[in-house]
Amino acid sequence: MQIIHHGAVNGVTGSCHQLDVNHHSKHISSYLIDCGLFQGAETAGQSSAEQLQITFDINNIKALIVTHCHIDHVGRIPYLLAAGFNQPIYATTATAALLPLVIEDALKVGVTRDTTLIQACINRLNKLLVAVDYGQWITLPINLGESSSSRLTSTTAGINTLENPPGYTKAKLKFKPAGHILGSAYVEIDLSSPKASSTSNAKTSAKTSHRVVFSGDLGASYAPLLASPKSPYRADTLVIESTYGDKNHQGRKDRSKQLKNIIEKAVKDNGVVLIPAFSIGRTQELLYEFEHIIYRNKNNPIWQDIDIIVDSPMAANFTQKYRQFKMLWDNEAKRKLAQGRHPLDFNQLTTIDSHQDHLAVINYLDSVNKPAIIIAASGMCTGGRISNYLARFLSKPTTDVLFVGYQAKGTTGRDIQTYGPQGGYVYINELKIDIKATIHTISGYSAHADQHNLINFVKRMHHNPSHIRIVHGDDEAKQALAQEYRRLIPTAEIVIGKE
Ligand SMILES: [Zn+2]
Ligand SMILES: [Zn+2]
Repeated sequence: MQIIHHGAVNGVTGSCHQLDVNHHSKHISSYLIDCGLFQGAETAGQSSAEQLQITFDINNIKALIVTHCHIDHVGRIPYLLAAGFNQPIYATTATAALLPLVIEDALKVGVTRDTTLIQACINRLNKLLVAVDYGQWITLPINLGESSSSRLTSTTAGINTLENPPGYTKAKLKFKPAGHILGSAYVEIDLSSPKASSTSNAKTSAKTSHRVVFSGDLGASYAPLLASPKSPYRADTLVIESTYGDKNHQGRKDRSKQLKNIIEKAVKDNGVVLIPAFSIGRTQELLYEFEHIIYRNKNNPIWQDIDIIVDSPMAANFTQKYRQFKMLWDNEAKRKLAQGRHPLDFNQLTTIDSHQDHLAVINYLDSVNKPAIIIAASGMCTGGRISNYLARFLSKPTTDVLFVGYQAKGTTGRDIQTYGPQGGYVYINELKIDIKATIHTISGYSAHADQHNLINFVKRMHHNPSHIRIVHGDDEAKQALAQEYRRLIPTAEIVIGKE
């Protein structure tokens, strides 16, 4: 088998990996793991059409496997469909429920307002989607002999041959909880030939079966709402993300206290607190934390009076799905439910739906001398409603901007983080905006595993991988993680994924 990367290999966005099985024979079968959009600096030098195009041959692709529905993992799906892809799309049950909403929103915001076109795309997507529960093995379609079209001839990505095994005749797939966002999973793909199942000889068996694990995005331990991921029992080849491959997060108590302190200080001058957040995942985690702080501070007027505004119809939709799938919550969240609390809902919470209301809220907040916390997308300030808030409020000294998620290079979020504290400026909606707001970052809310978690993910496997491919990270993060893995398993081949 071999693995080719069509994204999230030099950086963190555009996730799209291709696993080729039996690639040295005529009977190649390929599986795509994610098909995401490039964002921020990773789009530099490409026209928007180039970023979206499916530049690889899709003839031999037998299935698309979706790890989770962040846009940088699924955003190119409409283009894959447009290119003629007509094979099953496997996702966990929760991801399958969320995915059509995500794609519909992405099309509306970035591509077309034509509802017929959008509906046609969503219908195709729904037709191909196969919902799979966590922990269940599913047999993948595999090419067993009818002469298939010629194998890949050109691709923009490099090819790394891992080995040249005898033909695999069976491929199966299992999703395991990744603890990153609702429905997120890491993927185990088991390749085998009949020999492996009919013999008890371990040596033969090892030659004829191979397990590939794709981490997708792994959650951090002690993240709100979702349990942290458990390591796979075994991986022969592991393709792993490394967003925080060189960093460790602050502890959970610290970050909750930090959030409370920052908000309390920030609202003293009656200014707004802007929190850019992905509508899926981060927004719900923040609501969960705010409910907790409000519950614990019943006698503190700041917390009993503060308005918390989620300005995003999408976020409201997703919050609804988070409630629907509460069986996937962690024990702490379930305990709160059992106590009669509503971890994703409270009195001071307001949700803004229409664009008209969105503009009205901005004008209202600008005209009153009253604090409010606003949570809006996009999480890296690359567009969405948060941009309008930033354009209006970033130049006011009473404003506070609070980053709780990773800001990729080249995004407006990263620029505000970098230049804000130096009294710099940014361009938003083509306007030059001086940054007078106070800028804060709390790293403990990251939805990504930190270095410690990434090491443990491998350390806790019963059978060590013989090959680890590090993807989905900046160069420093990948290098640092590679070094840790080399120390951990000196015999393994550790490769930094490259295009
Ligand atoms: Zn993600
Ligand atoms: Zn990702």
